Amino acid sequence: MTSRYGMLEEEKVFKDPVHRYIHVRDELIWELIGTKEFQRLRRIRQLGTTFLTFHGAEHTRFNHSLGVYEIMRRIVENMEKREHFDPEERLVCLSSALLHDVGHGPFSHSFEKVFHTDHERWSREIILGDTEINSVLRGMSDDFPKKVADVIAKTYQNKLVVSLISSQIDADRMDYLLRDAFYTGVSYGNFDMERILRVMRPKEDQAVFKHSGMHAVEDYIMSRYQMYWQVYFHPVTRSAEVILSKILHRAKHLFEQNYSFMDKPKHFESLFSGKITLEDYVKLDESVILYYFQEWQEEKDPILSDLCQRFMDRRLFKYVECDPSVQMKVWPELIQLFGKIGFDPNYYLVIDSSSDLPYDFYRPGEEEERLPIHLLMPNGDLRELSRESDVVEAISGKKRTDHKLYFPQDVLEDDKTFPIEKKQILKLLTSQEG
Ligand code: ZN
Repeated sequence: MTSRYGMLEEEKVFKDPVHRYIHVRDELIWELIGTKEFQRLRRIRQLGTTFLTFHGAEHTRFNHSLGVYEIMRRIVENMEKREHFDPEERLVCLSSALLHDVGHGPFSHSFEKVFHTDHERWSREIILGDTEINSVLRGMSDDFPKKVADVIAKTYQNKLVVSLISSQIDADRMDYLLRDAFYTGVSYGNFDMERILRVMRPKEDQAVFKHSGMHAVEDYIMSRYQMYWQVYFHPVTRSAEVILSKILHRAKHLFEQNYSFMDKPKHFESLFSGKITLEDYVKLDESVILYYFQEWQEEKDPILSDLCQRFMDRRLFKYVECDPSVQMKVWPELIQLFGKIGFDPNYYLVIDSSSDLPYDFYRPGEEEERLPIHLLMPNGDLRELSRESDVVEAISGKKRTDHKLYFPQDVLEDDKTFPIEKKQILKLLTSQEG
């Protein structure tokens, strides 16, 4: 090994509201944090548009990435106390934890859908391409960047390391549940992480948990279940997300029609034309996007300017629960009525679906195979969690899906121009609710 890194002369410490302190002792980690691609994560919020629902949710991918690193650091430290841990493998763990979200773009979820990009692919490119991060990682050894990229892509040969970052109980999820609960201010995301880390034991391909810590693991699963429905899929956040993606769709459409923007959207051009390079990608962050949204409020195109005003002033779409089978029947009529009263249904009438599977036992061959969580029994046997825990059994393998129909409040408001149409829309929209 020809690494140019050692230990820092003096430990660096970050103050963190979730883990209290984040400790950095390795030169490698300190240098990675200082790269421009990592610093960019300060300008990307962890929860996208959630700040429009929970105003505290202004925390960033930067905070979260440091948090995942800190949890990984503690996991590795605990493992080292029990058995020999290869020092290079230790740095693979810490670097992958720190960099696991480095490819995220601004408002990732909407962006990825509209532009068909994928943050995992960008993480890989940032780690392996011509970047500051790549040159820091290469200071370890020539094949070190590839090892880190493989862990994030889940193809790394050491499956234990992969499972510590992506499985049903991993450093990533533990950090985001605690952090998102803290910053949103909700009371249900909490669980005893210290206890989980204390009862965690490495076992071949994944970590298992001593039976005595089962209730802490149960709590973690329930907290994930609660956070999905109370925070991540919150209908108001989804509404903001719907408007955001419609703005991007509209701007892309106008670009394709050679519309002349008052302010040329140069940061978007390569995205719109589907030819975005790594160099362009790392220049995108949420301050850039919000700058354009601010500008586009004044555009001549009425749909683009209206949607941007709604987003900036937080005049979000309303919603009703909808049943896809009922919706199919009234859909053509709704589309026609929306057109008639001057709301293009392509932008102002949207169905959005959310679904989540809180925990699953092992189902080999299924689309997304999930490694189950195993408990280590006092006699040394392993038992799958839902066989021991009644609480977890109750929600295991149960997928919940929820559909909502979004539309602007104005389509219902009384006015003199379309009284009959508006009454009819109201009737059709409310017929959606069961
Ligand atoms: Zn993450």
